[in-house]
Amino acid sequence: MPTWLDQKRRGVIITIDGPAGTGKSTVARLLARHLGLEFLDTGAMYRAAALLAIEQGIAPPDGPALARAVGRADLHFDFAEDPPRMKVGDRDVSVRIRDLDIGEIVSVVASQEPLRRVLVEMQRAIARDHPCLVSEGRDQGSVVFPEAAVRFYLDADVTERARRRAGQLEAAGIEVDHDRVVREIAQRDEMDSARADGPLLRPPGAIEIDSSRRSAEEVVEELARIVRERLGQAGLGR
Ligand code: C5P
Repeated sequence: MPTWLDQKRRGVIITIDGPAGTGKSTVARLLARHLGLEFLDTGAMYRAAALLAIEQGIAPPDGPALARAVGRADLHFDFAEDPPRMKVGDRDVSVRIRDLDIGEIVSVVASQEPLRRVLVEMQRAIARDHPCLVSEGRDQGSVVFPEAAVRFYLDADVTERARRRAGQLEAAGIEVDHDRVVREIAQRDEMDSARADGPLLRPPGAIEIDSSRRSAEEVVEELARIVRERLGQAGLGR
């Protein structure tokens, strides 16, 4: 029977989708480390596109201009770092893209189909170079990697999600207005779920996990157990 190592040699993709503030990034990063896979934060790519819009004076709904800007910008991850850093050319934008001004426009930017086409293609190209991946976002299990070995959908109460997001911002030294954070999360949920292309949804066949009252470590343990069980059941793991 093939071992987990054999499976990794052939490539294994695990997707984690879900709304903002579920702890998805932390969980995906820890799960990747736990299983010896690489980590792809696709939200960072949409955030970097939003940064280009701000810096180049592109209107957030102007999909063709956004797609062109991303095409010219040499957007890439530095996989030598853990977690990988988001780069625009030589510039590391990993911290800047977490600011609230980016959060306020990123869902409008991310609803533009010409931009999504470019970023989805970039994500698939990344997976060709890095075939052992935990990839997180909104559409990873539904659109980008529907054939992934295991697909998760992570959710949590909206108040809990806002509390976590505020905590992250405070930890990063950013002054937080709690009402603004709740509004930002609720607006992003609505836009991410309502858009036509790659909307936030529970992909059929995805495993739903509620992270509301559990630590990231507890959630990671559960996901790792499920991955091993699933791949084992398919005759691939252990
Ligand atoms: O995950 P994060 O909160 O950093 O994502 C920022 C935004 O990027 C989301 O609110 C969503 O609008 C967009 N996004 C997306 N598709 C993905 C990942 C993120 O539309 N795969």
